Amino acid sequence: MTAVQPISLGDNTVYLIDLGGSRVLIDTGPDYRGAAGELVEAIRGRLPDLVVATHGHLDHAGLGSWWQERGVPVAVHPADWPLATGEAPSDAEFEALQRFPQESGAPPDVAIPAAAAIAARRAWVRASRTADGYPPGGRDRRWPTGLRYRPFTPRLRLDEVCVPGIELLHLPGHTPGNAVAWLPSEGWLFSGDQLLLGLTPTPALQAHHDASGPDWRFRSFPAFLGALRKLESLHPARCFPGHGSPFGDVNAVIAANLEQAEQRIQRTLEVLMNDGPLSLYDVAARLYPRALRRRFWQIAATVQGFLDALESEGLAASRGGRWHAVQAASAPLS
Ligand SMILES: [Zn+2]
Repeated sequence: MTAVQPISLGDNTVYLIDLGGSRVLIDTGPDYRGAAGELVEAIRGRLPDLVVATHGHLDHAGLGSWWQERGVPVAVHPADWPLATGEAPSDAEFEALQRFPQESGAPPDVAIPAAAAIAARRAWVRASRTADGYPPGGRDRRWPTGLRYRPFTPRLRLDEVCVPGIELLHLPGHTPGNAVAWLPSEGWLFSGDQLLLGLTPTPALQAHHDASGPDWRFRSFPAFLGALRKLESLHPARCFPGHGSPFGDVNAVIAANLEQAEQRIQRTLEVLMNDGPLSLYDVAARLYPRALRRRFWQIAATVQGFLDALESEGLAASRGGRWHAVQAASAPLS
């Protein structure tokens, strides 16, 4: 018999799956002060045979080194190993992100503070990897303290792990190595950050972990939408997300996410058709005029995602940093 135990760790939920013969933990848990103790208590001292990290972000893989020190192997998709080992985000990625606001067409009074925010983030990432203690918690108090992320080399490649009864599906988008766990016998989906109730987690601007140069950017959003469509085709009975509580009616949630994305992509196309060519900043200023200055990075990532989606469908293209609609070839008149 298959059983699942959700374990809440601050803002995250990890899941201990008991497959009868073996026990698999989905996500390592985040590393805040006290998290490891809470985990030990929740599993009552019986270690899992395997920990699967859905992706390399610190709140999903942050206790990877802790598990491996206890002899429990952690599986991460190789495309996210650089996040676990600390090679990513690289200096080149941070530098590309610092140039991004100006290249996106933002005026100096927006671009300069936005670039400074990346410098601060770079310092914070370094501190999370090297701090002896725990960094201070954020204002939003999602976890009791700030999170650490001690670099580790995963013992297993997620694409080579074989657990009878569980399919580990590589669905890049949220990160290049993002994955979900699927139990076909139960219709259970362990979705990490791919599918959450109440919000669509737009992927951040991010690099291919191995690339630099002008084409540094990983086109995350079109891949993320493709991943949602793949999940829809599975018709999951129940979703166990990486944040929050398990939920049913999974395809309705997926359909709502896809519909919302498609409407916004369509609006982006209309902006380009009416006013293009436009810089990314000018597209964003038309779509989100009130919030753009306050929430530059979030909105820039969102709008870049819409533009990437249009580009992937052949409906938009950019030249010299300005985006235009691509006229569909008109159907021949009969
Ligand atoms: Zn994530």
